[in-house]
Formats: sequence, C-alpha cells, structure tokens
Amino acid sequence: MEKADILLSHALIVTQDAKRTILPESSIVIKDNRIYTIGPSALIDSSFEAETIIDLQGKIVFPGLINTHDHLFQVATKGLGEDMAVQDWVTVVTAPTASNITPEEMYFVCLNGCLELIHSGVTSVIDMNYMAYTFGLHDENIHAIKDSGLRGRYTSIISDYGLMYGVPQSLIRPTDWFIDQYEQLVSKYPPNERMAVWVAVGAPWTVTGEGLDQSLAFSKRTGTPMVMHIGENWVDNHCSLDRFGMNSVPYLEKIGFLRPELLAIHCVTLNDEDIALFVKNDVRVSYNPVSNMYLGSGIPPMMKIQKAGLTIGLGVDGAGSNNSQDMIETLKVAALLQKVAAGDASVVNAQQILDWATLGGAKILGLENEIGSIEIGKIADLFVIAPNSPKVVPIHDPVATLVYSCGQENVEMTIANGKILMKDKIIQHFNEKDIVKKCQDISLDLADRCGSNSKVKRSWKGNTA
Ligand SMILES: [Zn+2]
Repeated sequence: MEKADILLSHALIVTQDAKRTILPESSIVIKDNRIYTIGPSALIDSSFEAETIIDLQGKIVFPGLINTHDHLFQVATKGLGEDMAVQDWVTVVTAPTASNITPEEMYFVCLNGCLELIHSGVTSVIDMNYMAYTFGLHDENIHAIKDSGLRGRYTSIISDYGLMYGVPQSLIRPTDWFIDQYEQLVSKYPPNERMAVWVAVGAPWTVTGEGLDQSLAFSKRTGTPMVMHIGENWVDNHCSLDRFGMNSVPYLEKIGFLRPELLAIHCVTLNDEDIALFVKNDVRVSYNPVSNMYLGSGIPPMMKIQKAGLTIGLGVDGAGSNNSQDMIETLKVAALLQKVAAGDASVVNAQQILDWATLGGAKILGLENEIGSIEIGKIADLFVIAPNSPKVVPIHDPVATLVYSCGQENVEMTIANGKILMKDKIIQHFNEKDIVKKCQDISLDLADRCGSNSKVKRSWKGNTA
C-alpha cells in the first residue's frame, strides 16, 4: 500500500480539465500538497494508506475558487455605507477606516474576511489595501492572509494626487514614500506561489505623471504584476478627460501601462475601442458584479470582453461594497447581471461562470499550470459542497447546481495547498467564534473612533457577537 496524506473518496468530481470532465464515484489522493492521483474509488482506495480518509458520498468536489479582487480591511466597514453614492462612501466610510485602523485590528478584520472566503470555497485571494500609514498594517494584513491558509497576493494603493477629484488627503503621500514601502515589502516577503506582493494604483488620475512612471518602473524592475481600478464607473473617464484630455484606457495605453501584467478591476465603462486596446496588450480583467450593483456603478460588458478572448476572473471586492465576502453568491450574480444586460438568458451559462472563477483566476495569478483545475500533479486547492439541502436538490447538472442553487452554507470542506482549512463547515486552525467576536468588537470601536458610522441612521448600538 502506498502512503498518502489525504484520500477523498466516493465523490462526484468537477475537474475543470480541458474537456471539463466530471467524474462520478471517484477519489482524489493528496500527497505533499499536490494531487497525486485521481480515479474510480473502486480502483484507487485499496492502493493507498492515507493519514486522513474522508468519505464524500453524495458530495461534489470543485477546484478552489479564485477571488481576484478584494479589500480585506473593509470587513470592518460592513454595514456602514449602505445606499451611499460612491464618493460619499469613500470620504465617510472607507478612507477614515483605512487611516485609523491599527495593525492589530487589521489582523483580525482581515482574518475574519479570509474565514468567510474559506466558507465560500475560495482558496486564493488578490487583496488591495489602501495606503498603510504605518508599516505594521502591511505586515498584519499579510499575516492574516498567510495564517488563514489562503494563497494571497497583497497590494497597497499608490496615490500621490487627486484632491480635486475627491481622493482624501489622508490617503495621499509622495510616490517615493510608496515605492520605499514596496521595496521593503518585496524584500521582506519575497514572492512564492503561496504569497507575493503586487503593486496597486487606485486609478490613473489619482497619481501624478511622474508617480505613474515610477510605479510602472518598479513593477517592471521587480517583476511584480500590477492591479488598477479601471472604468469602475463614469467618474474614471470624467476625471481622465479632465486631466489628460482622453479616456482612461487610451491614456494608459499611451503611457505604456497596458500589458499582460496588468489586472484591470471592474471595467464597467469599457467601450469597443478600450476592449481592442486590452486585446492588443493582453490585459487581464476582474469582474466584480456584486460591488458593481451595490455601488450602482453599472454593468461591465463581460460578454464582449469574453468574446474578444481576454482572460477574466471573478472577485467579491471589499466587504464595504458588497457587505459580505461570499464567492458562491458572486457566481450567481455574475451570471444574472449579464443576462439582464443582454435581455437574453442564453448569453452566459454556468460553465462559463465557473471557468472565470477557476481557470481564469489561475491564469491571472500566472498559476494556470498549478491551480484552477483538479488534475494530477496540480496543487490540491479544492472545495466540497454537500448539496443535500432543500435549497439545492434536485441535482441534474453539478455546475448549474453550484452556480445557481448553492449557498455558502452548502460548502462543507475547503482544502488549500493540500491543507484542510475547513471540514464539516468547521474552520480547523482557528476558533472561529473568537475571531468573529474580535471582529465585531474591533469594528464597533474603530467606527466610533474614526466616525465612519456618522451616517448610519439606526440608533441601535450593541454587541451581539
Ligand atoms: Zn476595489
């Protein structure tokens, strides 16, 4: 008998391989954090002696979902910014939170966000912190992602300009200051497939020309990919026209920002010319439908972007513009929003949505040969749903079941990097109740201190966690 770490047995496996094979009554053997073999349980199970054997009869295994955009610290702002226009929301809620949160608070709110991601089948996250007024905020944000067991890419927004466009003074510093922080970050956290530092620019008009050049030069010199909100709503082109005399995408093309190492977040206002420029430069796109709807930003032309052949991933965005970190919910909303936009239910199917959430995200991370599908030799990043609930049964097509019927409550197990992070819905390496209580206490205190709750109309105040 061959030794193994984990044997997942008797499962229905949605592999997401090139043929989109779905394997009934099959087993996955995990050894040294990788998928060692896959095959019919009747053949495989008797050949392996695994430390952990889990019977997944009646359950469905999917590749881990990849959350390509988040602002984890915004977990602290959940429930503060409802029904606000975006500029108000930044000024009143998210900016004061970013400028007042302590490193310890950062750790617990980010960790709480990561736990919810694990509950919704996520195994990788690309996070975007705002400006960190003290280096410890970078450290604790990164520590939270690392400790959670998720694969992470950490960024912090560079902004040296933009007061007249509403960028709060508290988030602005000279670019040299940001680049110095990034130099320290990259040397303190050298990149590996588990955790790496990337570079973030909030939007093109929030950085001086010189700052943009410096940011791009840093990204190229250190080989760190870049993320940027592009065309989140009408404001992006409005400010770009005002400042540069052209829309943001043509401007970014002109200054050399469009390239495969750029992940463009949102892309709501992309027109045909913008999409052509993205295709020319192979820019990657993150689609965040819940946030786009929550903030009233608009509908990104994802089907045009897909038809153009661009790489697309899904994101939940920060909890401040979502109110949760629920990737399962995002799958459904991602599909529904495109159907509404097209006035045609056939415009996107469940398989396409799962492809974006797995294979697309893996390509954005540059890890398409390592994650994104359940195949022999790949890293064991996967999650299991127990579909035996009134909300979900009957199951005719497991992919449609996941996208349209499942909720976070159906996710029973999540494995990232070959480690079981959650089993029977129980987080394995943290006392979840303690983290939830910490997050509640910290967030109320922080909101009181920084006034981010000044526009909350309810008089209720208390602690229920
Ligand atoms: Zn964002």
